[in-house]
Amino acid sequence: MADEFRPYFDALARGILAFPRCGDCGRFHWYPMKLCPFCHGAGIGWEAVSGVASLFSWTIVRHDFDPAAIERYGLRAPYIVALLEFADAPGVRLISNLVEADPDALAIGMAVQALFPAHDGRVLFRPARVG
Ligand SMILES: [Zn+2]
Repeated sequence: MADEFRPYFDALARGILAFPRCGDCGRFHWYPMKLCPFCHGAGIGWEAVSGVASLFSWTIVRHDFDPAAIERYGLRAPYIVALLEFADAPGVRLISNLVEADPDALAIGMAVQALFPAHDGRVLFRPARVG
């Protein structure tokens, strides 16, 4: 694992979703980098977010082709690969899996939330509970 990813996985292990944020220009970025991709500053910190995200886009995998996905994550086709945005980390888009969701009921912008504990350094998401 590249060193710049370590804070991400360390936070996940503590039940926290966090993203890199430049201390110089204040912008978030993803994936982690040694220098800010916007201002090239080196003062990158990590900021925890709520774990609530919105669905930017998705695809549905309908054929099991990765035995590791089944074994490690219990993901059997059909499953949802989601691209997520975070209101409290503008500019970050994270790819994950959306579980406990009806593939036919997905909509752009729908609210989802991180599902902890993370498994094997991977956080899944599910539709946000209303109310
Ligand atoms: Zn910057």
